[in-house]
Amino acid sequence: MDLQAVLDSIYAELSPRLGEGKVADYIPQLAKIDPHQFGMAIATTDGKLYSVGSADTGFSIQSISKVFMLTLALGKVGEGLWKRVGREPSGTSFNSIVQLEREEGIPRNPFINAGAIAVTDVVLSGHAPREAIGEFLRFVRYVADDESVVIDDKVARSETETGFRNFALANFMRAYGNIQHPVEHTLGVYFHQCALSMSCIQLARAGLYLAAQGTNPLTGHSVVSPKRARRINALMLMCGHYDGSGDFAYRVGLPGKSGVGGGILAVAPGIASIGVWSPGLNKVGNSQLGSVALELLAARTGWSVFGD
Ligand code: GLU
Repeated sequence: MDLQAVLDSIYAELSPRLGEGKVADYIPQLAKIDPHQFGMAIATTDGKLYSVGSADTGFSIQSISKVFMLTLALGKVGEGLWKRVGREPSGTSFNSIVQLEREEGIPRNPFINAGAIAVTDVVLSGHAPREAIGEFLRFVRYVADDESVVIDDKVARSETETGFRNFALANFMRAYGNIQHPVEHTLGVYFHQCALSMSCIQLARAGLYLAAQGTNPLTGHSVVSPKRARRINALMLMCGHYDGSGDFAYRVGLPGKSGVGGGILAVAPGIASIGVWSPGLNKVGNSQLGSVALELLAARTGWSVFGD
């Protein structure tokens, strides 16, 4: 299959629609982003790379970082992590507080904000916040095999100044003992992980370990066991798009994680890792054109995990 031709056809089809959706304006620094942008990259497990549009432009990966932090936390505490966070789709918005009260401070899954904050709190154990941020950045550079990945401090600061809901979620969990560090420390790490700036190409490469049973086929770096890679993919499929996860599975059929910066990391197990970015978001906070692009890709390649 000519994957470059597939990407080119998707780009051509979506070009007239650039600008659709709404950028995430609740984080002031993200509100400034021009929504008329689109990039997409595919890194295959046999070592090829295909890209189209602004695939080389860095953007704020936001919640996609939750996949990497989850990987790091599982490496530290293993299955014990599931005492702190569940594994079920939430069916509520990414920053919902209601469900957290009903479920006594144990978030539904590691990909909604509350769950990700609890996971970050686990990684923070035994470290100063600055060390945990450094460890996280080194880990992402390692999985991406790219030392140029950076954190955008302006985005981190912007969110620190305005992330009142995240402070509410974290304080709530602290009251239940599910946040074990000062809230500002845990959120300091969380805001920095979300502010990671990566391009579609870097993201596609960073996701390769999930497409290739836990080991990056390009570098030979073993990141997680095959079983763990499979399980992270399962969580991404069920919970990676907040309360739009069912619709994404229905339309695309691939494990994926979105972020409010407009990026999505998707995984075609055994075949490829895909990074797509377009800043305009749909109603549930997932990239509008990024989702459509992945739907077109799945249809044209037959890569859905449920068959063509
Ligand atoms: N940093 C964002 C927040 O906490 C992440 C949300 C997202 O990307 O979905 O609100």
